[in-house]
Amino acid sequence: MLDQTIKVELSTTKKQKPNADQLQFGKIFTDHMFIMDYTEGKGWHDPRIVPYQPITLDPSSVVFHYGQTVFEGLKAYVTKEGKVQLFRPEKNMERLNQSNDRMVIPKIDEQFALKALKQLVSIDKDWIPTAEGTSLYIRPFIIATQPFLGVAPSSQYKFMIIMSPVGAYYKEGLNPVKILVENEYVRTVKGGTGTAKTGGNYAASLKAQEISSQKGYSQVLWLDGIEHKYVEEVGSMNIFFKIDGKVVTPELSGSILPGITRDSIIQLLKYWNIPVEERKISIEEIYEAYDKGLLEEAFGTGTAAVISPVGELLWKDRKIVLNNGETGPLSKKLYDTLTGIQYGTVEDPFGWIV
Ligand code: PMP
Repeated sequence: MLDQTIKVELSTTKKQKPNADQLQFGKIFTDHMFIMDYTEGKGWHDPRIVPYQPITLDPSSVVFHYGQTVFEGLKAYVTKEGKVQLFRPEKNMERLNQSNDRMVIPKIDEQFALKALKQLVSIDKDWIPTAEGTSLYIRPFIIATQPFLGVAPSSQYKFMIIMSPVGAYYKEGLNPVKILVENEYVRTVKGGTGTAKTGGNYAASLKAQEISSQKGYSQVLWLDGIEHKYVEEVGSMNIFFKIDGKVVTPELSGSILPGITRDSIIQLLKYWNIPVEERKISIEEIYEAYDKGLLEEAFGTGTAAVISPVGELLWKDRKIVLNNGETGPLSKKLYDTLTGIQYGTVEDPFGWIV
């Protein structure tokens, strides 16, 4: 592990913490943040925890022009006994490095980054909200900071971690969402950057998202970028379908983000002996299954919502309503189990909790 001590400068003033009922996603940040710099020839250096504050960057910094950046998202939870828990955080650090590889950003020391993250959470642990379903969202990210207008990997970077207390995703229980199947725009293609968590993928998704909101849909279901035939992801979540007793999810074919919730759901289903398949699924197959009465449930998976049941799909002009627009029993069971493990009310047979 990187043999460097993390300098700590504590904030002299503490910000007012929001009430649990005022919490929104990603609008308020805790008192401290982590920063570490990278300079070519020197490697990653000067790890430090400092008061949360704006940073100064040269306007010509590579990140502003060519988008060389990666990020992660995970949460810290408090149990009823007051213990602080992270869910598979080493997987986020591993994925950060996979994203780094794709975006030609120097790798971080995963163990050291995790140590820094734990130290930051521990300093700001009073910021982790305790009301049911609330948590502290943690955002590690790297930006290219070299002042240079050239399409080439930057020689300087900043790795930072910021944290935001977030409210319960579902205030009145699991809520199925209406999804528009996107036929024109694509999120990414095989060979592109879809497997990396990088800003451009999300910028590229905004247009389709805007159109779907105008039509009264909350997210889009992305189809593959070449044939517009195979299902890929839903909004910024992975997607699962339950068809005739079997669970199917798109295979990681080179354009899909390998979700940590996705992997956890697959492991849980196997543990319960529920058949699960990772393979190509065409949108036609979904509609055919619906026509035959075999499409039992569909749900998205991701850190923010954990499970997001799909209540309705619109593809071209064909609208289908799943499970009477209600949450299916498998979606509910998966949600209860995974959130139970995260909040320490359900035993963790997988060793996921840190
Ligand atoms: N797909 C995309 C495009 C995402 O941004 C996310 C959120 N990280 C996911 C899937 C779900 O990943 P995870 O379960 O690791 O949050």
